[in-house]
Amino acid sequence: MTLPADIGACVTSARARLPLLDADLLAGEALGVPRSDLFAFQERPVPPARARRLASWVKRRVAGEPVAYILGRRGFWNLELETRPAALIPRPDTETLVAAALPRIHARSRVLDVGTGCGNVALAIAAERPQAQVLATDVDPRCVALCRRNAERLGLGVETRVADCFDGLGGGFDAIVSNPPYVAAGDKHLAQGDLRFEPRLALVGGCQGSEFIARLVGEAPAQLRPGGWLCVEHGWDQHEAVAGLFHAAGFKQVELVRDIAERPRVTLGAAPA
Ligand code: GLN
Repeated sequence: MTLPADIGACVTSARARLPLLDADLLAGEALGVPRSDLFAFQERPVPPARARRLASWVKRRVAGEPVAYILGRRGFWNLELETRPAALIPRPDTETLVAAALPRIHARSRVLDVGTGCGNVALAIAAERPQAQVLATDVDPRCVALCRRNAERLGLGVETRVADCFDGLGGGFDAIVSNPPYVAAGDKHLAQGDLRFEPRLALVGGCQGSEFIARLVGEAPAQLRPGGWLCVEHGWDQHEAVAGLFHAAGFKQVELVRDIAERPRVTLGAAPA
């Protein structure tokens, strides 16, 4: 196959195989130019190594691999985060979790993020509350290492630890936030789109989907100071079940927050005294 020799030909070739946004994101990064150059400098020659890189990325994307894993990064909140296949790709839905939690997190709060993945929730909170003490945990050591790298590159003070849910943690938190696994094991979406490439551990909460959330909500009161907040992301159809779990565990002021598409997305409540 002959490689396209200039920017315009590279972009045309990528766009012929992919949706516009995907093609332009991959082209900009592979060719090492800002996206505006893709339009402004179409006649500029492209070194064969870069054209080859773009061709291989386009092939991977056509085979279904998520753009965030090909590029190794994704924006979340106002942060640019490294993303790897060991961790879920940060989603705009999860910005709802950050926005819901922030008003309940004070300057010096002790905050725990359970199942941090690449660290997106913990790091967004640390960016907004630089004096808060934020601990990010994950059961997968590769995620903890990824979160550490993101924290260090961004210069954000987040502590990290490998932990399964609350196992081995000392409690005393003012707020606990989590985007836990909540998809049902048999959900057909797991065989579609980006989800095929994302870690099952981060997606599947059990046969029903809500099993891990049940554990999280049930164990959270012992980890929270009285009146401390638990904020949990969940599926749009899980709100009633999750609210039931919050009430059963004694949480007060249980509240639902909807995402930008108006779907139920986050439930929060204050720990019993
Ligand atoms: N919102 C994600 C999805 O449905 C699931 C994320 C999660 O399990 N925490 O693709």
